[in-house]
Amino acid sequence: MRTAVYPGSFDPVTFGHVDIIERASKLFDTLIVAAMVNREKMPVFSVEERILMLKKVTAHFDNVKVVKFDGLLADFARENGADTIIKGLRAISDFEYEFQMAMVNKKLNRSLDTVFLMTGEKYMYLSSRVVKAVGSFGGDLSEFVPQEIAGEVAEKLLSRRK
Ligand code: ADP
Repeated sequence: MRTAVYPGSFDPVTFGHVDIIERASKLFDTLIVAAMVNREKMPVFSVEERILMLKKVTAHFDNVKVVKFDGLLADFARENGADTIIKGLRAISDFEYEFQMAMVNKKLNRSLDTVFLMTGEKYMYLSSRVVKAVGSFGGDLSEFVPQEIAGEVAEKLLSRRK
């Protein structure tokens, strides 16, 4: 049984994340999507909201679990029997930081490898930051986030401006 962890802020989850989840779920027996509490980044959506949204948009994948994660990824992977971290790469700009993190995680947990999946070409421009920027001005989010969560994402982003 091969288990992988896909960590992120998912603030909020986008089509770019769902594409990575779908592809990674085909490569592993179990995929754990780990929503980081993320104290540094000051997320807009609480970790509970982010987890609920992730659960809604991944409900149709049988082997995907969504959990909260706070701490060291290397420890989390060990505790959950995962030997692979999944990361999405959009552009060279993502690479430098991710390369560094992959090395650090390897130092902390020798049996852990990071697998990078290239972005789906339709989503290479897409980030949670883009969603937050467009949504805060009431822009149409239908190209960015799944329909099951588009309403709640739009509502929260708009209400923050008021
Ligand atoms: P973001 O960078 O969108 O704020 P996260 O920290 O939640 O998001 O990202 C979690 C993971 O998903 C990272 O590995 C990131 O590179 C990847 N990712 C985010 N958006 C995309 C996308 N559009 N295509 C591929 N990978 C992505």
